[in-house]
Amino acid sequence: MWSRLSETGRLALACLAVAVGVSIHDPARAVISALIAAVVFAVFAALIPSTVARQERVAQQAQRPLWPDNATKAVAEAFGHPVYILDPQGNVRYANQLSTQVFSAARVGDPLNFSFRQPEIARLLELSMKNQERAVAMYHERVPADRWFLVSVSPVLSQVTSGQPSWFMVTFIDQSEIKRAEEMRSDFIANASHELRTPLVSLRGFVETLQGPASADPQATKRFLAIMLEQAERMSRLIDDLLSLSRIEMKAHLRPREEVDIRDVINLVQRSLENQAESLGVVVNTDLPSGPAMVRGDRDELVQVFSNLVENACKYGQSGGKVDISVSLLNEQNSSDNSGTRGVGSAGSVEVAVRDYGPGIAAEHLPRLTERFYRVDIADSRQKQGTGLGLAIVKHILARHGTRLNVSSRPGEGATFSVKFPSIELAERG
Ligand code: ADP
Repeated sequence: MWSRLSETGRLALACLAVAVGVSIHDPARAVISALIAAVVFAVFAALIPSTVARQERVAQQAQRPLWPDNATKAVAEAFGHPVYILDPQGNVRYANQLSTQVFSAARVGDPLNFSFRQPEIARLLELSMKNQERAVAMYHERVPADRWFLVSVSPVLSQVTSGQPSWFMVTFIDQSEIKRAEEMRSDFIANASHELRTPLVSLRGFVETLQGPASADPQATKRFLAIMLEQAERMSRLIDDLLSLSRIEMKAHLRPREEVDIRDVINLVQRSLENQAESLGVVVNTDLPSGPAMVRGDRDELVQVFSNLVENACKYGQSGGKVDISVSLLNEQNSSDNSGTRGVGSAGSVEVAVRDYGPGIAAEHLPRLTERFYRVDIADSRQKQGTGLGLAIVKHILARHGTRLNVSSRPGEGATFSVKFPSIELAERG
């Protein structure tokens, strides 16, 4: 304010001096010179404030550092997410290490908008810079992969620049996992409702038919009741599988501690599926080691895993006429099991393989088989009393056991589903 007054005062004095000088020299022009001096004063006085403001801005910019100091950079590095530090013009002045790993490198010195050519990012920067406050938005990147980030732009205030932001800190927090989990949950609910609704609609239709047109037809009644029972059983299988899944998910973080001999599990599975296999015309063979094949696990869950696999092998591989279940003890050096180590329970792993000789599975289906409700042929699965959840249950149980399912198959040559468990060393058990 003072500087503005002094500038204006100086200008007034100069104008006055010129006017007085002209008047003394030529009194006849006193009035006109006073008028000219007044106009000159008015024009320049109007220009002075903007000139001063520009000078103040230049002085402030001269004070503002061009690059962030080490402490600010250290904060950006410690953040654990991609971070960019921008100057108030939106140019990148620092990019932390994570940002260069997650995104293709943004060039320091270039505007951030050059690297993220997305209107939502440009709008966010503009908003934060204009209002000088934090602005947050969700950013969806489609290329090279579908990723979601919560982007936040925050002004970093500094005493050096008298409360004006020296920097704007842009952080990207990855939300892709949360988004995917949300999508999976809603897909799952939609699929489960659809699977339950189909038999329910059919049941309702038969009830209405029995109440109406077929009420006096004992033969139709008998036939319809059999179909209704089938639909009710389908619903209850689905509910059982859904409950199994949720039970397994609830204890997903707990590693099972029991010691289980896999041979007992396989013998039990073979016995319990004997009738079903026989009715399908399938022979189930086992090839087990002579000694224990111990693994850490939950016996009931392992029975469920191999029941699902053997039942699938019988149902979908029925045309092959046989299913082979083999248990092999593998040690670290020798992954084949032709050695004399069988039955000794040596260090290494226990591999269980269920092989059928049916039509096999085309390669494009293999990575998706363990997804909930994924079926190669929906009608075929339904006709074989499938729920589409069997392999999803297998996958979750195996994850809890620290292992996973391997599937290998070629169309026309059957399929092999195998699992490798780390065996319990005899030494460890004393
Ligand atoms: P479902 O209840 O339909 O059997 P699963 O999750 O157990 O569901 O299996 C998913 C799909 O994988 C099945 O619908 C079937 O298409 C395919 N599948 C599973 N096991 C075999 C197999 N041994 N041979 C061929 N296809 C199989």
